[in-house]
Amino acid sequence: MRDARHIWHPCTQMKDHEDFPIIPLVRGEGAKLFDTQGKSYIDAISSWWVNLFGHAHPHIVSAIAKQASSLEHAIFAGFTHEPAVRLAERLATMTGLPRLFFADNGSAAVEIALKLAYHYFHNQGQERPYFVSLTGSYHGETMGALAVGDLGLYKEAYKALLMRTLQSPAPKDRTIEAAIEAAEAMARLLHERGHEVAAVIVEPLVQCAGGMAMHDPEFIRRVRALCDQFGIFLIHDEIAVGFGRTGTMFAFEQAGIKPDLLCLSKGLTGGFLPMSVVMMREEIYVAFYEDYHPQRSFLHSHSYTGNPLACAAANATLDLFEEEEWITRNRQTAQKMAELLTPLVHHRKVREVRSKGMIAAVELHDLSDPRPARTMMRKALLQGVLLRPLGNVLYLMPPYVISDEELVKCVEVMKMVIDEVE
Ligand code: PMP
Repeated sequence: MRDARHIWHPCTQMKDHEDFPIIPLVRGEGAKLFDTQGKSYIDAISSWWVNLFGHAHPHIVSAIAKQASSLEHAIFAGFTHEPAVRLAERLATMTGLPRLFFADNGSAAVEIALKLAYHYFHNQGQERPYFVSLTGSYHGETMGALAVGDLGLYKEAYKALLMRTLQSPAPKDRTIEAAIEAAEAMARLLHERGHEVAAVIVEPLVQCAGGMAMHDPEFIRRVRALCDQFGIFLIHDEIAVGFGRTGTMFAFEQAGIKPDLLCLSKGLTGGFLPMSVVMMREEIYVAFYEDYHPQRSFLHSHSYTGNPLACAAANATLDLFEEEEWITRNRQTAQKMAELLTPLVHHRKVREVRSKGMIAAVELHDLSDPRPARTMMRKALLQGVLLRPLGNVLYLMPPYVISDEELVKCVEVMKMVIDEVE
């Protein structure tokens, strides 16, 4: 296969593909992907949680094509363009956070948020070299993002290279008691070390890569209060949960609070092009607004900052949200998904079934299969469903356009792979 001669795929031990070839895709439509043989796969995980309105959605396709024929890309330092300005205005209105910094992937957005928080205090003569993050968290693969993450699978080998951070326990389940207990642990940590901390970073409501761990909104409400009490920034990483995934446009809405810095990516462009943004409170921007000084100014940059094609894709995605009541429609789809999974509660291999909006997870008891996720993924692919379990957690996080029949098939295949796994 030509692919295997040159390409190193992400999050993959390439040797695994000696006995299970990489699948060559040619097109996508709605919730389905099609390979070169014409076989279809229901994309039950929105292609790593990026796709919102289906593959090759014509409105986003034409917005990108139109933009490409006028301005495909231009340096964003000293220049601007309508797609970026329009997008910034819309996101500011939607989030209530008026300032925005562009980047081109989720990890980069996390790096920017961390750097801004640290730099803000540094400019005020305060050294606060620590960030507080949660057990079970995931914020990306670059060094700063790995440092605030907690998944050994990705982090362990690089531990010696990473900045030191402080860790606070995530709520151990979805109950309000667990939320309060975890917030109290963070309060104790901040009482001791708060003066050294620039920011707390959390994935609100659902820690996705950490196994779709779900928390009561009371947790982030209390974390917000702690950040206010200790004068620390609150960073919300809504890269996975933003844009309607948890039942509201943004997860923070469910707690009735606002973060100081908000990282968005993935669904931002409807899953068409890589882009991320960090939205922030005016106060943070204003603190950097002064006469040029090389050390005090925030000189972070990426070549593709504010890419017009990605901005056009994002604007087209927001058009789709405006055209139809997706948040309401998703509630129905989410309920259907949760109902379909309910019978699995009684499956002898199942520890818990949980869901939050358009995310539904089935956690299995410990398995003897050494790599259950790989085994289950392969079996599902053979049945025409793209599942990518996280260890022993299977989940559905489909495009919002998924049909009832497709959902039924996803759940049937899920049940089949659970039946068969050791
Ligand atoms: N934060 C969260 C919560 C994520 O889920 C991810 C990606 N899965 C990232 C950050 C990193 O985003 P990217 O893969 O675009 O770097």
